[in-house]
Amino acid sequence: MGSFDWSYTFGLFADADLWRAALLVVELAVSAWVISTALGLLVALAQQSRLRPLRLFAAGYVWFFRSLPLLVLLIFVYNSPQLFPDLRPLLSSPFAAGLVALVLSETAYIAEIHRGGLLAVGKDQGEAAQALGIPYAGVQRHVVVPQAFRVALPALGNEFISILKLTSLVSSISLAELLLVGQRLYTQNFLVLETLLAVAVYYVLLVTLFDRLRALLERRLDVRKRRTKAAVDTTPEGGEVLAAPRRTRPRTPHEGEAVVRARGLRKSFGTVSVLNGVDLDVHRGEVVAVIGPSGSGKTTLVRTLNHLEQPDAGSVEIDGRPMGGRDRELTAQRRRVGMVFQRFNLFPHRTALQNITLAPLQQRLYDGRLAAEGRARELLRKVGMDAHAHKYPHQLSGGQQQRVAIARALAMDPSVLLFDEPTSALDPELVGEVLSVMSELAADGTTMVVVTHEMRFAREVADWVVFMDQGRVVVQGPPETVFDNSGEPRLERFFAAISAA
Ligand code: ADP
Ligand code: MG
Repeated sequence: MGSFDWSYTFGLFADADLWRAALLVVELAVSAWVISTALGLLVALAQQSRLRPLRLFAAGYVWFFRSLPLLVLLIFVYNSPQLFPDLRPLLSSPFAAGLVALVLSETAYIAEIHRGGLLAVGKDQGEAAQALGIPYAGVQRHVVVPQAFRVALPALGNEFISILKLTSLVSSISLAELLLVGQRLYTQNFLVLETLLAVAVYYVLLVTLFDRLRALLERRLDVRKRRTKAAVDTTPEGGEVLAAPRRTRPRTPHEGEAVVRARGLRKSFGTVSVLNGVDLDVHRGEVVAVIGPSGSGKTTLVRTLNHLEQPDAGSVEIDGRPMGGRDRELTAQRRRVGMVFQRFNLFPHRTALQNITLAPLQQRLYDGRLAAEGRARELLRKVGMDAHAHKYPHQLSGGQQQRVAIARALAMDPSVLLFDEPTSALDPELVGEVLSVMSELAADGTTMVVVTHEMRFAREVADWVVFMDQGRVVVQGPPETVFDNSGEPRLERFFAAISAA
């Protein structure tokens, strides 16, 4: 075995040129990663756009720049001023040319990482934000992208490490990064292995350092590992209301001023016709319960009311104004309609309080953050959740989450609240606390449409009951008429089926 000059290798860790080169590598890699992460997000969002040209451009970009070897791109970019002299001031330095080439190429890879993250967030989250009347940009910025970023972070960290090492290719256009500085050394002294060993250790140190940073960032962004401030949780669950659902006010007549007026709603999914011409009126202060067998179109009906689902035909008016139109009008109209989902759809990266204040702050509904938080606190008290204001959704039971979701919908001061089976995802012992909050709202005169399998609630709290079957309203009327003497075979079959269960 030949000799290995260890002392020379160790000496290289005090070499100013190598440290400068290491710093240059960090600068180049961090800049390339930050810029590509931002641009990659835009490309990923463009790939989901409703605008076809934008989608095609984004897909074409990813396809092209992923196919190109970085080295080819690098040399091309560095020499491109031969073709485009105007680019000379921009690309004359190897650093700038290297950065541009890295960004062009990495944006394509990182776009795919972001796309994975965006897909992982799921449609429910976006819909919950849309239902609050938040416009597209706000939905992405406050709800979808923060969650997608957390999902993408491990892969983004990986990509950073890959960029850090790819910077060695920029030596080919004579950037004095680690590899080139090493090469210059060993072409003078021929200690190739000794020099390369030191260069390798520099890379390993850099990668290790940044991997630690990534792990730290990941931990910081993981709300599941976050502790809530202990002081907030010392209050007992005092505010919780647990009365059995029952009517505590005179019945609201099914006539007069309509808050919701739907006419001739039709909706098909492919060849399945789900709504076959549904009319629905909901008056101010009225509680309308929608019942019917599974698959009868109840969910689709409430989703068309705020146009989370676009009806194929028919119209919806809220407060006398048609639902729909361009984005701006649609979001404005949606603010009049609060929605409570079967699976709560709270924003998992925000506390209960932040879930409630997001939309009002976004839309400047109140005079500043303090006012919005004051109102949110009031609403949390109303649903018996004020002791849990600073908890994250995963720290709450299903019933508690649903009560926060109700408060979140109320914060927009909607004209009507829509509930789609708000208790059917709950453990049985948690159903009562949600139903009693809903009964209280009803007693306060809140206008509500409630899709439910809780027949007791429909009978005791609703003013009007609508029975749907196969996309049609088959029977409707005051609870006692619908429940006691219907004479309609489909309704009787439905009641028989649920009492057998
Ligand atoms: P319900 O809430 O009364 O159970 P839904 O409105 O959820 O009924 O669904 C009615 C029918 O429409 C079901 O057969 C369901 O499979 C179908 N459906 C609902 N949403 C979609 C969709 N996005 N794509 C395809 N089919 C759907
Ligand atoms: Mg349903």
